[in-house]
Amino acid sequence: MDICFRLVSLILILCILAPSPIYSKLLPTQEEAALVTNPAGFLNLARSPEVSDYMVRIRRRLHEYPELGFEEFETSKLIRAELDKMGIRYKYPLAVTGIVGYIGTGKPPFVALRADMDALAMEEDVEWEHKSKVPGKMHACGHDAHVAMLLGAAKMLQDRQDELQGTVVLVFQPAEEGGGGAKMMAEEGALENVTAIFGAHVTTRYPIGFVASRAGPILAASGFFEAVISGKGGHAAIPQDAVDPIVAASSVIVSLQHLVSRETDPLDSQVISVAKFEGGGAFNVIPNSVTIGGTFRAFSTENLYRLRQRIEEVITSQASVQRCNASVSFDDKPFYPVTENDRNLHKYFLNVAEEMLGATKVLEMKPSMGSEDFSFYSELIPGYFYFVGMKDEAVGISEMGHSPNYRVNEDSLSYGAALQASLATSIIPQLHPHEDDAMERAPHDEL
Ligand SMILES: [Zn+2]
Ligand SMILES: [Zn+2]
Repeated sequence: MDICFRLVSLILILCILAPSPIYSKLLPTQEEAALVTNPAGFLNLARSPEVSDYMVRIRRRLHEYPELGFEEFETSKLIRAELDKMGIRYKYPLAVTGIVGYIGTGKPPFVALRADMDALAMEEDVEWEHKSKVPGKMHACGHDAHVAMLLGAAKMLQDRQDELQGTVVLVFQPAEEGGGGAKMMAEEGALENVTAIFGAHVTTRYPIGFVASRAGPILAASGFFEAVISGKGGHAAIPQDAVDPIVAASSVIVSLQHLVSRETDPLDSQVISVAKFEGGGAFNVIPNSVTIGGTFRAFSTENLYRLRQRIEEVITSQASVQRCNASVSFDDKPFYPVTENDRNLHKYFLNVAEEMLGATKVLEMKPSMGSEDFSFYSELIPGYFYFVGMKDEAVGISEMGHSPNYRVNEDSLSYGAALQASLATSIIPQLHPHEDDAMERAPHDEL
């Protein structure tokens, strides 16, 4: 243990002992208040070399070896090795590569913290020492940072496990990027007995040191479609002998745009984007078929399914106007529900984040048309999803996620880890059952 860490520990102990105006009024007894680690104390701890260097090391290692959804075998192995080193119990495998770890008493209340593990199928363009070593794969959404943050939080929490009056559940899930790993994790019991779940995502939308979120709907519901429009190939100079699927697909795409602009309440946000158009390979050949694909978004399940129905109708009808046939598929990727933040957890998040960062650093964000499979958790139990800022133009960090030039600001790791650890530890005493309830609790509530 180095001097710096001792100093931080001393400050932390002083912080714990100091009366906290917010928590003292939330907690039932003085004795329980003493058990809660102060959010600012967690930030100091997460910034200490012991925790912060550890997270940077983990994140860089993961960044070098990105793995796609449901293939996170090495990532999962690394996480399990770290949990073993820390002496943290876990269940494995859930959803192929997923892990659920447990810190604390093994008894209620259970509060979950989630990290996603998967990378994207794309090439990294950033030249640096820890660039992806796997061709065609890159951690360009920061999920490497999320895993590092959760392991950092686990490290801090495991050192204080005796102070926990319940159980922190660590959810390491596969396949957030379109695969719906969260759905499978939940189906396989990741949220068993869990009362609340928190998820964090790094973002260059907000500056480093800031966090952002909102109550209620925060991210849209999403679906994907793919359609094959078939005609009859032929010579491009003799179109009358062919049935041109390129012109048909072009009409389809223009008509799809009318679903939002002409059939949707302008005050109710929805999106349809055709992001894929594949067909033809020569300047003088009309191809047999064209494949188009894209995504659609809405802020209610009802609207999402209405769009789904209309997309199918428009593609098949518009293709037939052009004498083509069309088949539409929605099955490739699961639909994601709306990500909805629990209103009580929002108030609670504001308390913790403002105490840690100061009120000016905690931003209210607008809902986004992006989507997240965290929604499968928050559909089942109260959930809270928030963004950890990392933009810093002075050091060239501003590219958005999914860009080949995306870079993670490693200073954000301490903020994410400290917030996740604080949110879990400070909410546990508030969820704690009264002693009378605990006596009546069925044994299956225990781990
Ligand atoms: Zn992403
Ligand atoms: Zn992501």
